[in-house]
Amino acid sequence: MADEPYRRFASLAASAAFVTLAVILMWLSAGGWDLSGSKGTAMKSELCNHTRHLPDGRDLFQMVCAFGGTERAFSGIHDHKEFNGSGVYRCACCGAPLFPLDAKFNSGTGWPSFTAPVTDAMGYRKDILQYGSTEVHCSTCGAHLGHVFDDGPPPTGLRYCINSACLWYDEFASAIVAASSPWILNAYLVLLLLTGCCASCCVFSKHAVVVAQPYLQKPKADRVDVEATPVPRANAFADA
Ligand SMILES: [Zn+2]
Repeated sequence: MADEPYRRFASLAASAAFVTLAVILMWLSAGGWDLSGSKGTAMKSELCNHTRHLPDGRDLFQMVCAFGGTERAFSGIHDHKEFNGSGVYRCACCGAPLFPLDAKFNSGTGWPSFTAPVTDAMGYRKDILQYGSTEVHCSTCGAHLGHVFDDGPPPTGLRYCINSACLWYDEFASAIVAASSPWILNAYLVLLLLTGCCASCCVFSKHAVVVAQPYLQKPKADRVDVEATPVPRANAFADA
């Protein structure tokens, strides 16, 4: 077992490398180390226009936008209702412009999807309950909107997956998308790093136990091992 210390060091180094890489990637991606996630959603309801008609219902609006829930796929009106022109999807709470109509595309996921938001319209934070995926909220009022993923179409390659209950369409306004896009950490990459870290820790633990085992065994000086005591045998050749 001469190579046990080396294996233990290699396992420990691999675990540290996985953790370091995950920390750096989380820090570089949109939202940084804001880990409050869905449960940390804090919509400023005093900024809401409570007289506004909400086609998907006020109860659903509260559940999704105020408390960070998710509406059923294919259930929202803005997933299947198409508009013509150059309008803007606004926040259902405060009315801030969020997405131009021409940024909308059919993702087939069951939620309204957009390639890019209006400049400074989005706030980002990590949803640690969903493997570090990136949650988006209205930067004005804090209403929870949905998540953003890195599997969208050109030109941004992003897919803002938004709950219909948090949107209303203003056909008389117009807006342009932000000139730059944030870097979104791939949730599967985070899952892969966590798996690698756990596997390395398991290997490290195994070898740590193997190396430490001789030191954990107490000396049994007072114990007489009858079975192990060699029994004197008569010398078969003594009488010869
Ligand atoms: Zn808002």
